[in-house]
Amino acid sequence: MGRALIIGAGGVASVVVHKCCQNSEVFEEICIASRTKSKCDALKEKLGGGKTKITTAKVDADKVEELVALIEDYKPDMVINVALPYQDLTIMDACLLTKTDYMDTANYEPLDTAKFEYSWQWAYRQRFEEAGITALLGCGFDPGVTGVFSAYAMKHYFDEIHEIDILDCNAGDHGYPFATNFNPEINIREVSAKGSYWENGQWVETEPMEIKRVYDFPEIGEKDMYLLHHEELESLGLNIKGIKRIRFFMTFGESYLRHLEVLKNVGMTSIEPIEFEGKQIVPLQFLKAVLPDPASLGPRTKGKTNIGCICKGIKDGKEKTYYVYNVCDHEECYKEVGSQAISYTTGVPAMIGAMMVMTGQWKKPGVYNVEEFDPDPFMDALNKWGLPWKESFQPDLVE
Ligand code: NDP
Repeated sequence: MGRALIIGAGGVASVVVHKCCQNSEVFEEICIASRTKSKCDALKEKLGGGKTKITTAKVDADKVEELVALIEDYKPDMVINVALPYQDLTIMDACLLTKTDYMDTANYEPLDTAKFEYSWQWAYRQRFEEAGITALLGCGFDPGVTGVFSAYAMKHYFDEIHEIDILDCNAGDHGYPFATNFNPEINIREVSAKGSYWENGQWVETEPMEIKRVYDFPEIGEKDMYLLHHEELESLGLNIKGIKRIRFFMTFGESYLRHLEVLKNVGMTSIEPIEFEGKQIVPLQFLKAVLPDPASLGPRTKGKTNIGCICKGIKDGKEKTYYVYNVCDHEECYKEVGSQAISYTTGVPAMIGAMMVMTGQWKKPGVYNVEEFDPDPFMDALNKWGLPWKESFQPDLVE
C-alpha cells in the first residue's frame, strides 16, 4: 500500500516499528529516522529481513529544513511522529511544506514551559485544509484510544453523554524503587503539574494529586488513583455532545509518590535551568539521565494495565452508564515485541491511526483529534492488532 516515515526511535517507536512490520500489507516500506541513528539501525537490525522494507536516517526534528530534506528524499505517504512533544510543530511545518499527512501521540509542549494544550496545533487547521493534507493528533492510548472509546460510546449507546471519567491504571511492578514507564522528563512534567477537570464549560483547577479516589479495576483489583490534567480532556470537552463533566484519573503507588515528593522538594523536578560547574543544566533533564531508561523496564515488569472510559448519559430518555476498557499484560507485551505495556498501549494505536490515514478511512484535509472520525474501523483494528476491549453496562462509578 505505501510508505511511512517514523520519527523517533525510543520506547514507543520500537512498538510502532514492530507493528508496522506485522502489518506489511499497509506498511510496505518504513524509514526510521531519529537524532541518534544507531538506535534506528538497532531496530532495523532486529526487524529487517521481513516483508516491510526498512531504511534508517539521522534527523534533528527540531530543524524544519532537515525534516523537509528527508521527506523530499524519502517521499513517504505520511509521517508518524513518535519523537517528543517538543518536535510537534517543526514536524507539522515540514509536512505542510511537503504536503505530507501527519500523525502524533502527544500534544505540543514548549521546552521551557510545562504547559500542554492543543491551541498551538489547532492553529494549523486552515493551513492543513488548504494544503489538502490530514493531521491526526494524539493517537496513542491516552490520548488516543480514550477518544475513540468516547466516540464509540456516543455513536452506539447514547443520545447525550453528560459525564466521562477516564481511568488509567498501571498495576505493573518493575522492581525499582522509582522509575517512569515512558520518557521520565515528559512523565514527571505531567504528574507534577496542577490537576484540572472540565465542568460545565470551564476548567476547575486542583493542586497536584489533591483529589484521590480508590477504584476496583476489573482484572486488577483496588488501586489508589489521582485526578490529573490530561490533554484529551480539552478536545473531548469540545467534541462530545452534551458533555458536562470530564475527568482523568491515574493510579500511583505510595513509593512512586513518596519519591516524587522528595525529588520535588529538593528541586530535582524543576525545568528552570541552573548553573552547575560552569554549565547550565535543567534539573529535570539531569534527573532523566540518572533514572532507569524506560526501555530497560520491559524484561522486569510484571502485572497488568487497565485503561478505559466510564460514560454516563441519556439514551431514549433514560439514564445509562457504560464502561469500555482494555486490559494489557506487561509480560505478554514483552514476549511479543520486547517492550512493556505502556509503550505497547501507545505504539499499537499509533500504528492503527497511521493505517486509518494511509488506507483513506480517516483521511480528510485539516487537523483532527481521533474522536472526530468514525470509531468503528479503529475499534475493530484494536481487537485485531493486540488491544482487545471489553464492555460493562453496570460499572462501579467514581464518586
Ligand atoms: P523516548 O524518550 O523513549 O523516545 C523519544 C525518541 O525521540 C528518542 O529516540 C529520541 O532520540 C527522539 N528525539 C528526541 N528529540 C529529537 C529530535 N530533536 N530529533 C529527532 N529525534 C528526537 O520517548 P517515548 O518513546 O516513551 O515517547 C514517545 C512519544 O510518545 C512522546 O511524545 C510521549 O509523550 C508519547 N506518549 C504518548 C502516550 C499516549 O498514550 N498518548 C503514552 C506514552 C508516551 P534520542 O534517542 O537521541 O534521545
